[in-house]
Amino acid sequence: MSSTDLDIAIIGAGPAGLVAALRLHQKGFRPKIYETVPELRPLGVGIDVKVYGSKELEELGLLEEFRAMSVDAKESIFFNKYGQEIYAELCGVHMGYLHEQRFVHRGYLQMLFYRTVLERLGADAVVSGARVTGYTNHDDQVTLHFDNAPDVTADLAIAADGIKSQIRQQMHPEHSEPVYSGITMWRGTTLMEPFATGGTILHIGAPQSSSMIVYPIAENFEGTGKVLVNWVVEATRDESVEDWNQLGSVDEVLHYYDQCEIPFLDVQEMLRNAREVYLFPLIRHEPLESWIDGRVVLIGDAAHAMYPRGGNGACQAIVDGGALASHLAATEDVSQALKAFQDQRLRAVNGMVMAHRGEGYEVIRRMVEERTEGERFTDIEEVLPLAEADAIFSKYHSLVGQPRPGHEAGEATGFRTDYATRS
Ligand SMILES: Cc1cc2nc3c(=O)[nH]c(=O)nc-3n(C[C@H](O)[C@H](O)[C@H](O)COP(=O)(O)OP(=O)(O)OC[C@H]3O[C@@H](n4cnc5c(N)ncnc54)[C@H](O)[C@@H]3O)c2cc1C
Repeated sequence: MSSTDLDIAIIGAGPAGLVAALRLHQKGFRPKIYETVPELRPLGVGIDVKVYGSKELEELGLLEEFRAMSVDAKESIFFNKYGQEIYAELCGVHMGYLHEQRFVHRGYLQMLFYRTVLERLGADAVVSGARVTGYTNHDDQVTLHFDNAPDVTADLAIAADGIKSQIRQQMHPEHSEPVYSGITMWRGTTLMEPFATGGTILHIGAPQSSSMIVYPIAENFEGTGKVLVNWVVEATRDESVEDWNQLGSVDEVLHYYDQCEIPFLDVQEMLRNAREVYLFPLIRHEPLESWIDGRVVLIGDAAHAMYPRGGNGACQAIVDGGALASHLAATEDVSQALKAFQDQRLRAVNGMVMAHRGEGYEVIRRMVEERTEGERFTDIEEVLPLAEADAIFSKYHSLVGQPRPGHEAGEATGFRTDYATRS
């Protein structure tokens, strides 16, 4: 049997499962996806697609459609809780990377992948309303069990069933109990006038109490001439919730930003005008030592759920599909291909899972809060010199596999904007 004759079942039609299907199709395979929801809808809010995520979209032949639905990330600015600027850096091609960094609505991106799967693999490539409950391995095949349909036997099952993966639960029961970190995200979108460059991401607040990220995800949203802005507020909360779609209220977090004055953005107004607010708990999943059990392999959030900070979770999920398809196409030995995939990806991605539990480069806001003892500063250079912040950012970008262009040559890449002094 040639490797492309492999009968491959993918569990889950999120970004990981859909991209895996497209990448396998590019290599000549004909996988089938089993998705639990009866009808896919564009759910979620924003995703920050890093340069390596855009590269994957280009290789899938989807860059133009992706550009049309997303916003070019131009600059990233860090503020304390008073709205005083700490640090800024450029993004994507503006920083000198070969690919763009772009902001997009998670649901629109998922629907782009979904439409493309239907176009390229055919309408029967996705079986919806099919909830997988578990698997049974045989010598060189695997049987998937469903709670509402007959079993399916395949040569390989790729589990892309997300953060609450049923398959991970079976494979690693000891690592599947969710542990609430005590931190919750309030996530929402607001329709508003464009601000700053139109592609500016803001990081605001003192992480000791609350932290906020703001970025636009759609220009001229539905012909209104306004931008759809994604924002996420992190704060402690006693109670956890268990769903991406649990509704919340901004009233719980507004007070953290009542002294915040950003020169070009009224934060309070943006929060109050939210179209919807969702709660999402930060759940700790321990990094796994293996993603493989016989003819089953985990990918995406099922394999390496990480705190959804900074877009790496979605981008790493997308990268998995291409890597796995390449290894499967390179050999007829499925076990060898799965092992090669795991060897390529597991250690590096587990490093990111742990890094996202910490603060990454967001630590600079904590440092400023501590060094100023929570007060306003007069001269940021006396509190956090640019060179010190630059070193922190360069280290982080290297950790996630994207060393800053120019860093090797010792070029300073961070800067401070002049928004505060503009009339
Ligand atoms: C409704 C929803 C909203 C989200 N919103 C955001 C957001 O706003 N911002 C953000 O950064 N990330 C969001 N995410 C998570 C983000 O999509 C992932 O972190 C990342 O893209 C990795 O994707 P994934 O395909 O591995 O997982 P997911 O995107 O979680 O996709 C998993 C898929 O598997 C399906 N599935 C689950 N269990 C089974 C089963 N037993 N049988 C069959 N199918 C199953 C799910 O319905 C889902 O379609 C959201 C996820 C979901 C499901």
